[in-house]
Amino acid sequence: MSFKAQGFNVTYGNNIAANAINDLGEYVLITQPEPWAVIKDQVTNQPIQTFQSGDLSPEHLDKLAAESPKATIVGLGGGSAMDTAKWVHWRRSLPLVQLPSLPSVDACFTRMSALRDKGGVRYEGDAVPEMVYVDFELFRAAPRTMVTSGIGDVLSCHTAWFDWKFAADSGKDEFGWSANMPEISKMYLDELYDCAPGIAKLTDDGLRRLMELHRDIGWRCHEMKHARFEEGSEHFFAYTFEEVTGRTILHGELVSMGVLIMSHFQKNNFQRAKKTIERADTRHRLSDLGVSKDEVIESLRRLPSFTVEQKHWYSHARFIDAGKINEDEVLSLLNW
Ligand SMILES: [Zn+2]
Repeated sequence: MSFKAQGFNVTYGNNIAANAINDLGEYVLITQPEPWAVIKDQVTNQPIQTFQSGDLSPEHLDKLAAESPKATIVGLGGGSAMDTAKWVHWRRSLPLVQLPSLPSVDACFTRMSALRDKGGVRYEGDAVPEMVYVDFELFRAAPRTMVTSGIGDVLSCHTAWFDWKFAADSGKDEFGWSANMPEISKMYLDELYDCAPGIAKLTDDGLRRLMELHRDIGWRCHEMKHARFEEGSEHFFAYTFEEVTGRTILHGELVSMGVLIMSHFQKNNFQRAKKTIERADTRHRLSDLGVSKDEVIESLRRLPSFTVEQKHWYSHARFIDAGKINEDEVLSLLNW
């Protein structure tokens, strides 16, 4: 059975971004310099105002929303452009059109904006775009690693459903374990495995199928009112890494690292996760990621206490025995 996504209206194609904008009428552009540079020579319909995205604090976003003229809001770029455009659209009840320039996250297919507030991330808002235009040429103009990292928030389903079931089996489930979840997760993961070589080669088919996975996952988060099925110990590892190191790396690569490590500790088909990453040619070796051995080991040691302090959902992350970590074994999960 082939995978069929649900979710927001979407149009896929090559070199469709400029035409979509030219047909819009008056609009406010929310973007970053790189994607705009790719298409601006083909855009004849200039924006009545342009906002640069980047600052996702609620104060800044509300300031942009207040300043925005009444017109269609157009988001063009990565996660921060999508999230900023969603916020202005929602706060002002203006029409929204999204043009993602990266498949790195599913921000164009989710309703809430990820705000950076008081040192943490908070989700708020309820955005529904008229149309999401996915222009494969914009993806191909981006650094390749930003595209191949896009598997992270789908691959996270591998470890996340396992954690959710573990919580349910342990009497610690907050959401009502859904018995058909393993089947749904398997559907996502099989589709990802199948289209991964196309993602590695940046083919239309591979990129479209990756975005269809993001679209369906965004839809399901809204249907279920939570993201338990796609966020588990692999994300908790990622948040711990950010706390321990005081920095971050590409979200999808960091989450993929979390999947490799946590699938091992869950005894949950590490080989399959590894093979998927290999097929998508997503970076995983520490030297390629610019991450040190100590950063990984320290993050893993900190994980069980941090995940309890932060009140993350109950997961295998709580049961890493920080005193018994075999460093060579952990490094072998990543450096292949
Ligand atoms: Zn994520």
